[in-house]
Amino acid sequence: MIRKQSYKEQLEVKKNIMLAAGLVSERFPGVANIEFRMTYYQKTADPVLMKRTVSFCPTNYAFFRLDCMRDECTNGGFDLAPLVASLVKDRKPTVKGNINCHGKTENLGHGHASIAYEINIQYRKNGK
Ligand SMILES: [Zn+2]
Repeated sequence: MIRKQSYKEQLEVKKNIMLAAGLVSERFPGVANIEFRMTYYQKTADPVLMKRTVSFCPTNYAFFRLDCMRDECTNGGFDLAPLVASLVKDRKPTVKGNINCHGKTENLGHGHASIAYEINIQYRKNGK
């Protein structure tokens, strides 16, 4: 049986992931602001779990992975990083879509949670 990480260890791991992700200004120098508008859904009688808007400015870490809201879910979550990368590459301002959580759990099946997202990116006027 794998020992569950302590909260402190989890924080340490998360910090290292953030550092590895780098800053928005380093990863995406032409970007002035990134905004995520998300609605979390879960497979229950009351599917809309919550709505959330998160903004990133150039001094924030470019960490765009969201955790699954279900505590039982392991290795789940929603990774928006590839979406941001392709948007910036094409210098497009916005994209919408859905992502299913692919985390594995004993009690929850596939599609136990998903998000609808809208990503809005503002670019610097004279950025590269
Ligand atoms: Zn999940």
